[in-house]
Amino acid sequence: MGSPDPREVRSAFVTDVGRVRSANQDACAEVLGAAGTRLLVVADGMGGHAGGEVASRIAIEAIGEWFENGGGGNGEMLREAFEAANERVFRMGSDAPHLRGMGTTGVALLLGPGAAAWVAHVGDSRAYRLREGRMEVLTEDHSWVGEEVRNHRLTPEEAEVHPRRSALLRSIGVDPEVDVDVTPVPVESGDRFLLCSDGLWGEVDDETIAFVMASDDPEDSVRRLVELANDHGGRDNVTVQVVAVPTAGDTLELPPMPRRAPPQRRNDWSAGVIAALAVGVMLVGALLWLALGMSS
Ligand code: MN
Repeated sequence: MGSPDPREVRSAFVTDVGRVRSANQDACAEVLGAAGTRLLVVADGMGGHAGGEVASRIAIEAIGEWFENGGGGNGEMLREAFEAANERVFRMGSDAPHLRGMGTTGVALLLGPGAAAWVAHVGDSRAYRLREGRMEVLTEDHSWVGEEVRNHRLTPEEAEVHPRRSALLRSIGVDPEVDVDVTPVPVESGDRFLLCSDGLWGEVDDETIAFVMASDDPEDSVRRLVELANDHGGRDNVTVQVVAVPTAGDTLELPPMPRRAPPQRRNDWSAGVIAALAVGVMLVGALLWLALGMSS
């Protein structure tokens, strides 16, 4: 648990095998970058016995590495990270016969500098935002039923029980190229974000998800949501990540990279500038004194 500093972004994640499957093909990670940037990512693998597990793990690794090595931290970087993951999973799937055809979904939230943030996704893992009690889905499922619902050929209720409900239209690692959806999602103080695999939203309705997100700490929320998915059947692996952006303060600043460093106040900053100026003046004085001493 972090310190109680209200400006600190709090986050938590859980991945669980569920009640029916024998292996967990979901994977997730949270990676901290430079200058308080932060990346959360969920992947739900598919294909073969080993394939799904490998695909989601490799994708998470590739996206995390791209983030750590990529500097900047913006939406374009996030797209490149997904493309790098696609390349790596596709290559492994092509090289190893027992991994052939493996793939994975991917959904990521990048909290960039200041209040800038982006969501990227491929497949049917989702991102939600809870703002002032209102829940919003930030992603459109790249699934056959998702497309049918958007085109009004199926109702959401029909989609939920449709035999093709898990058929994906896009995934990471199945084809040499991937089409990634990247959306800017400016952050406001008090926002909560949730990333999850279909093992959550397939079992627990959005109202319940919103209620649990709003009422608890991230640690409690993710644990409770996984419990609910399992109580409702737990037919799939379930992965949940929650990020809570603090409410205090008018300006939002994401915390600096070392969690133990206290937030800098404005007057500390000006004191630092004055100290730096004083040191500078003394250095110039010393150099002048040396120069004058040598020239005489
Ligand atoms: Mn799943």
